[in-house]
Amino acid sequence: MQALVLEKTRLLRLREIAIDEPLGPHDVRVRIHTVGVCGSDVHYYQHGAIGPFVVRAPMVLGHEASGVVEETGPAVTTLRPGDRVCMEPGIPDPNSRATRLGLYNLDPAVRFWATPPVHGCLRPTVVHPEAFTFKLPDNVGFGEGAMVEPLAVGLHAAGKARLKPGDVAVVLGAGPIGTLTALAALAGGCSRVFITDVQPAKLALAATLGPITPVNVREQNPGEVVRAATGGWGADVVFEATGMPEAAAQAIDVLCPGGCAVFIGMPGAPVPFDIVAAQVKEARIETIFRYAHVYPRALALLGSGKLNVRPLITDHFAFADSIAAFDYACNMKPGSVKVQIELA
Ligand code: ZN
Repeated sequence: MQALVLEKTRLLRLREIAIDEPLGPHDVRVRIHTVGVCGSDVHYYQHGAIGPFVVRAPMVLGHEASGVVEETGPAVTTLRPGDRVCMEPGIPDPNSRATRLGLYNLDPAVRFWATPPVHGCLRPTVVHPEAFTFKLPDNVGFGEGAMVEPLAVGLHAAGKARLKPGDVAVVLGAGPIGTLTALAALAGGCSRVFITDVQPAKLALAATLGPITPVNVREQNPGEVVRAATGGWGADVVFEATGMPEAAAQAIDVLCPGGCAVFIGMPGAPVPFDIVAAQVKEARIETIFRYAHVYPRALALLGSGKLNVRPLITDHFAFADSIAAFDYACNMKPGSVKVQIELA
């Protein structure tokens, strides 16, 4: 089949590749419709590795996908050909200790699309387990379906924060994950969200999506802005979504006493962290790695209209222009948030 293949660092090809995918009894074959370009895909393209994951052989990119069920295995009961679906890209070992504990995202044996050596989904069809394939509500389009993957990260972070109705949150970083986390925080009960970035266009877009206050860190100090707006108290929750060491090091500053910090972004190097600053607030520190069984909640929120991701899908490319899409994603316009590639 024709696929977008990362041959090695900085070399992409749209070419034929043989992928042997027998349809197991509990599997479905899905014709891919839309694939979002993720920061991790771009990182593999530019650098050939993320932490311990190194691209050593040609690998198909892409893990944020929606499509249409084409064929079902004999034991599949909940899906049928023609169903519009999105797919969770990480498949754990169902019998692993992590999976049995409900922590399947932490299963060391998890096979995740476009994480070496596993091929991704920028290709015409994939075979996927029924249990990790989710029907789209009728009013949710393929573009939104392909946004469920990054949205699941934000919802998992909101869950880890244990939000209460009326909480004030700060999201550091207005990229796709930061902006989706802001929407997840509002859906989870926050009364308002402050979002930080250095790109005025990204902040301006975020500010149109709800009670979201933009803070340009080139001009304002987030801690001062948040304290001024909360009678000096601070935010109940901070979500770190920049992955920048400087931002991560200062996350505790915006928090109120007893607040919670959730670290989403992955800094490329160890970050100095002021433990005393966290202790004097008795800050609760949470971290996330991907998500576990959040897709049904994400689809319920999209289907109900309570959460709208459409304004974040800013750029569209045809499959034939996939390499151009990646080159664009490496150097996006400031107002661009999510690039998607359409195969159908
Ligand atoms: Zn992603």
